[in-house]
Amino acid sequence: MATKTFAAQTATSPLAPFAIERRELLPTDVAINIEFCGVCHSDLHQARNDWKGSSYPIVPGHEIVGRVSAVGTGVKKFKTGDLVAVGCMVDSCRTCASCTRGLEQYCEKSCTYTYNSPDKNTAGKMTYGGYSENVVVDEAFTLKLSEKVDAASSAPLVCAGITTYSPLRHWKVGPGMKVGIVGLGGLGHMGVKFAKAFGAHVVLFTTSASKTEDGKRLGAHEVVVSKDAAAMAKQTASFDFILDTVSADHDINAYLALLKLDGTLVLVGAPENPLPVAAFSLLASRRSFAGSGIGGIAETQEMLDFCAEKGITCDVEMIRIDQINEAYERLLKGDVKYRFVIDMASLKA
Ligand code: NAP
Ligand code: ZN
Ligand code: ZN
Repeated sequence: MATKTFAAQTATSPLAPFAIERRELLPTDVAINIEFCGVCHSDLHQARNDWKGSSYPIVPGHEIVGRVSAVGTGVKKFKTGDLVAVGCMVDSCRTCASCTRGLEQYCEKSCTYTYNSPDKNTAGKMTYGGYSENVVVDEAFTLKLSEKVDAASSAPLVCAGITTYSPLRHWKVGPGMKVGIVGLGGLGHMGVKFAKAFGAHVVLFTTSASKTEDGKRLGAHEVVVSKDAAAMAKQTASFDFILDTVSADHDINAYLALLKLDGTLVLVGAPENPLPVAAFSLLASRRSFAGSGIGGIAETQEMLDFCAEKGITCDVEMIRIDQINEAYERLLKGDVKYRFVIDMASLKA
């Protein structure tokens, strides 16, 4: 049966209605009626081919929440009616060293992404994402969402949430550490919430002076407007850890200079152009410059359970699917508080 979606047909065309076919249920598949889908800046990067790997048509969307509508004959974890989520991955090789450690996002044979990725179950046809009525996903890559949580504001947890939770956990952010979060968008606002929840002293860096009050409300102990050179200078060589979520060109050396001896700056933002790093930004204080990609399935489930327990959700602005192109323009201007989420009922209308 045809499934309604919104797709980009080229790097320059706006997203528009497009019909696709989902695969027939395999024994371990669940079919999900999508209720909400978050709008990640990665959706925009890929719809517009910023990363040069886009294959059209693209149906973006990897912050999916919905209810199970049918299950394959061998499904054990889910039943019809369950509230579930699907993030950035829908499969991986499951046997390599990364997969067996629960790090499917670093699968040596490359995981299958939720969209714009060849699906080995359909002879390599590309996957289509969550700007859609429904999706079919293997149960091993389907996440459980508690009935206690607000579904719409939990949807972005499966990308914006896990992408900030995972590096903060990996680098053991906690009490006694001074932690910087760069950029207050979808990822950044969750980085602030998690760093605060883990007990660190949190400093938000933003280019938008108008986000100062929100930064504090979300949990930052200090907010620095990065265009203020004097305010930046005061933070020199004082951080244990900085998480950079910026989606566009910016001066990474300005943030490396804020790390103290042995401090680490982790990039999760994925701007289309390389960010030049000066040798002396690193070697002067034995600093580390690292990266991190989303999180594995087990850690994503751990993060969802942590959020349900602590009452952590995302700050969202609900939109209709026909507002998606306008939402992309606003993302480019940093004008989002702090994640757009599409009410998928609007796709049926
Ligand atoms: P977003 O909501 O658009 O937020 C990005 C924020 O970066 C903006 O709100 C703005 O914050 C700041 N910013 C934008 N342009 C800037 C510029 N030219 N200079 C300095 N700051 C700027 O985006 P997002 O969805 O959080 O995604 C952020 C990035 O992470 C994207 O590149 C996305 O593709 C990437 N990403 C990576 C992973 C991963 O696995 N590593 C996962 C998801 C997303 P202020 O107004 O506060 O300055
Ligand atoms: Zn994303
Ligand atoms: Zn693998």
